[in-house]
Amino acid sequence: MQLLDGKALSTKIETIVLSGVKEFKKISGSVPGLAVVLVGHDPASAAYVSMKKKACDRVGFYSVTHEMPEDISQEAIENTITMMNNNPNIDGILIQLPLPPQIDTTKILELVDPSKDVDGFHPYNVGRLTTGLDGFVPCTPLGVMELLAEYNIDIKGKNCVVVGASNIVGKPMAALLLNADATVEICHIFTDDLKKHTLNADILLVGVGVINLIKEDMVKQDAIIIDIGINRADNGKLVGDVDFENVSKKCSYITPVPGGVGPMTIAMLLSNTLKAANANALRRV
Ligand code: NAD
Repeated sequence: MQLLDGKALSTKIETIVLSGVKEFKKISGSVPGLAVVLVGHDPASAAYVSMKKKACDRVGFYSVTHEMPEDISQEAIENTITMMNNNPNIDGILIQLPLPPQIDTTKILELVDPSKDVDGFHPYNVGRLTTGLDGFVPCTPLGVMELLAEYNIDIKGKNCVVVGASNIVGKPMAALLLNADATVEICHIFTDDLKKHTLNADILLVGVGVINLIKEDMVKQDAIIIDIGINRADNGKLVGDVDFENVSKKCSYITPVPGGVGPMTIAMLLSNTLKAANANALRRV
């Protein structure tokens, strides 16, 4: 079994982004800018935003976080997004999800200028992804694809089973794999007999949020396991959705949690923001 080291690859990608920022500065006289909207006081959301801010600082981006109270109005968030859409110093806009229940999340995501949609959640970019066109791809599944490529894992014609079908993880993951010519199955909470499906997987990708959902007897010998889940165990440790201890004895490759997909998500956010900055600078010429 070999570990798929997302921490190491993310460091490598940060170095590439850092040199991209230097080049961007030479040509444009400015640096890429990322704006984050953080609503409420969810500790996990605050921790993710803080990690993203630190990563921006490491590569020399300008970054700003708009912190808003839990009881914020739809209109106030929309005004902030419009302001960021019109701000030439901002190349990427990220809305930290989930938003509180009084907010219409779809409307908020649709208001983000698609050319600044570095999370790839705008329906325009979702459509481009599903039709195989260039655009912004959600950071977590994009990070998984980079990790597979780094270890020369061939996807074409492979049976890929994606467990979890959210708009930010499972669905874009499945679209990317399909675009790479895999045979793709998507499982979710209503899938009958999950094991029957997971046993088919040459590559099993799990993003659900349930500790130990995937056990040794649900995995084919020598399968490749991508654990996207991030859960807090009772002992306070971060763990994925896969029973790592037992599954790792049976598979050929596996991502650790932490240190697998998590750092790749942040690296892809940096890379998407640099891509947006380069495209936005070209548009301004
Ligand atoms: P979500 O709640 O939006 O979606 C969960 C999906 O899992 C749904 O499609 C649901 O149908 C499915 N599901 C739930 N229980 C299931 C079960 N018992 N069997 C099969 N399918 C089941 O969650 P999300 O935002 O997609 O996040 C999923 C996990 O990925 C979470 O643990 C989250 O923390 C993690 N995550 C990790 C990263 C990263 O950078 N590694 C990024 C985003 C999310």
